[in-house]
Amino acid sequence: MHLIPTQDEVVQLLRHTGAIRDGHFDYPNGLHATEYIQVQLAMRYYQHAKVLSVGLSRLLRANPEIRAIIPELSIVTPDTGGLPVAYGMCEALRAHQVYWADRKDEGSPMRFRQYLEQKPGEKVLLVDDILRSGRNLAELKRLVESTGAEVVGLAVIVYQPTPKTIDFGPLPFYYLAKLDALYYTDAGSCDLCKRGEPTEKVWI
Ligand SMILES: [Zn+2]
Repeated sequence: MHLIPTQDEVVQLLRHTGAIRDGHFDYPNGLHATEYIQVQLAMRYYQHAKVLSVGLSRLLRANPEIRAIIPELSIVTPDTGGLPVAYGMCEALRAHQVYWADRKDEGSPMRFRQYLEQKPGEKVLLVDDILRSGRNLAELKRLVESTGAEVVGLAVIVYQPTPKTIDFGPLPFYYLAKLDALYYTDAGSCDLCKRGEPTEKVWI
């Protein structure tokens, strides 16, 4: 394994731990796909979690603008799935702090815990295990920026773009592996559905 794992090494690790699955998947947003990724299955193993988060932190350290602000950097994640990535990166980078958002109920807006407030001008790196639709990370970005903090970058282990992925514009974006599943925009256009292959519903 390289200090920054290659795309092939990441894919091999994810397959080996069952985090990449082949089949016919029905996503909550209506997309059908030939591949499903659940990075948490790989993050069960501490050594794997460490290899991935340290590798990702090395990509960030290579950016001189980010390297200069590491001591004051907050690493913030929208979901529990991002926590092992966030803590692993914070340890490797020696960044300032880690925190995360959550929701009162499914469908309610994202929020931070009581008394957790950003300082105006606080430098924030958004982190998650995977960027797929980008919906959670986009909501987190709005929430962080609404308090006057500054989002300086976005980092994920796996980037799996879909036809519905949100564009984050010029924000520096880091990932260890980019995976292109074959996506169909709905059941009507899905070749696997046409062949009558049974679907597997995925939650997220
Ligand atoms: Zn289908």
